[in-house]
Amino acid sequence: MRRLLVHSPVTVAALWIVAYLAITLFPLMVLLLYPPPDRGFWIDLSVALGFIALAMMALQFVLTARVNRIESSYGIDILLQFHRYTSIVAFFMVLAHPIILFIVEPATLQLLNFPQAPLRAQLATIATLAFLAMVVTTIWRKQLKIPYESWRASHTILAVLAVGLGFGHAILVGNYLGLFWKAVLWSGIILVSLWLIIYVRLVKPWLLKKKPYVVEEILPQRGDVWTLALRPIGHEGFNFQPGQFSWLTLNITPFSMREHPFSMSSSGDRSDRIEFGIKAIGDFTKRIKDYKPGTKAYLDGPYGVFTTERYWDTAGFVLIAGGVGITPIYSILLTAAERKDDRPYLLIYAAPSWDDITYREEIETLKEKLDLTVVCVLRKAHDDWEGDTGYVDRELLEKYIPIHRGSRHYFVCAAPVMMDAVERALFDLEVPVTNVHMEHFDLA
Ligand SMILES: Cc1cc2nc3c(=O)[nH]c(=O)nc-3n(C[C@H](O)[C@H](O)[C@H](O)COP(=O)(O)OP(=O)(O)OC[C@H]3O[C@@H](n4cnc5c(N)ncnc54)[C@H](O)[C@@H]3O)c2cc1C
Repeated sequence: MRRLLVHSPVTVAALWIVAYLAITLFPLMVLLLYPPPDRGFWIDLSVALGFIALAMMALQFVLTARVNRIESSYGIDILLQFHRYTSIVAFFMVLAHPIILFIVEPATLQLLNFPQAPLRAQLATIATLAFLAMVVTTIWRKQLKIPYESWRASHTILAVLAVGLGFGHAILVGNYLGLFWKAVLWSGIILVSLWLIIYVRLVKPWLLKKKPYVVEEILPQRGDVWTLALRPIGHEGFNFQPGQFSWLTLNITPFSMREHPFSMSSSGDRSDRIEFGIKAIGDFTKRIKDYKPGTKAYLDGPYGVFTTERYWDTAGFVLIAGGVGITPIYSILLTAAERKDDRPYLLIYAAPSWDDITYREEIETLKEKLDLTVVCVLRKAHDDWEGDTGYVDRELLEKYIPIHRGSRHYFVCAAPVMMDAVERALFDLEVPVTNVHMEHFDLA
């Protein structure tokens, strides 16, 4: 019974949430239990908001450090959503912290006079501006036309500035850090944040460097997709759960931190050759075809919860792919075929045209080894096409998905518009939300 309790994914996920709340709300509890010398409710509230925001900001390093145990409890897209929402909440708390002070004690407005303000106020001003720059460049990155790589580098620098200077401000203000064990807790949070920065920037790249891969083959596929096959050098590679992804660094050192996420498209049981299906859409992906066999590569993975393996006791699967969203789903089918899985698989696969169907011939071959039904949905069908055309919508899904909808698990990976439409349609068709799993390729 105890084992079951400790290992249940729901219990582990709930425990992380409890830990998160305990750390962020700790300053508030301390304030309630040990009120400082009477400075009035509003000042105490302002200080509490500042501390909670600081703890939430420091915890962002944990959320984005790709800690496997946390990631495997929720999935990277949910973690990043949480990171986005909690950052915005923390940002408003950071703003409310001085605004309350200015209203209650208007004399403190002088602290905004930067050249004459004391160091503690200067640190707070720079930290707040760094936080503001971070929020603006993240929400409007595409409108501001900031390339992903530059955004990522500046995001890290601004985050370290905001949190580091925020801590500096808190230490210089001092009053509220007086209690011994409160100082211990804050020192702990600072040390963990520092360690995570060192771990992500130095330790992890160093570990990756010890386990290199080389490009074995690069093959063209339908739909402007390239298969990139990697072979581990001097180690065994890794097995993965079909549907998972890795962060790929190609032809540069892992210390550069210019890695890209890609789902593995090969069988999860073959660690000696790991394949990816990469669609040429931008700076990095358009260059894939030009790399030569023998090019060095590094893989940080596997990550992700978009995998049928978590639902081993389900009666069958409905897989819904759009374009290059087929890659994790192809890996799921390939692995199932190799494992001689006899459960029914239904693949609904949308593509611009018949010639764009990535892995078309390979999927056809899989039909001989699996109980697999394939429904192709073409946007531009050729004249003698007798199959489905248009979009994957409620009407189309209703035609094909099983009547006992709760008896299957649904895996959806496609462009954002299609994912939203399919999610809504499945909801309308009363597929339980707990049975629907989505993989978003556009995280940033
Ligand atoms: C979990 C996951 C699995 C994925 N699996 C596949 C796959 O199997 N096949 C495939 O073709 N694509 C996959 N992608 C998408 C792929 O990561 C991006 O298409 C690729 O990184 C774009 O890089 P680029 O420089 O060529 O394009 P750019 O034109 O520079 O970027 C296009 C967009 O891709 C995103 N992006 C760019 N660089 C990164 C990065 N380093 N990290 C995260 N996002 C980035 C940004 O939103 C950017 O606006 C996956 C993405 C995720 C999150």
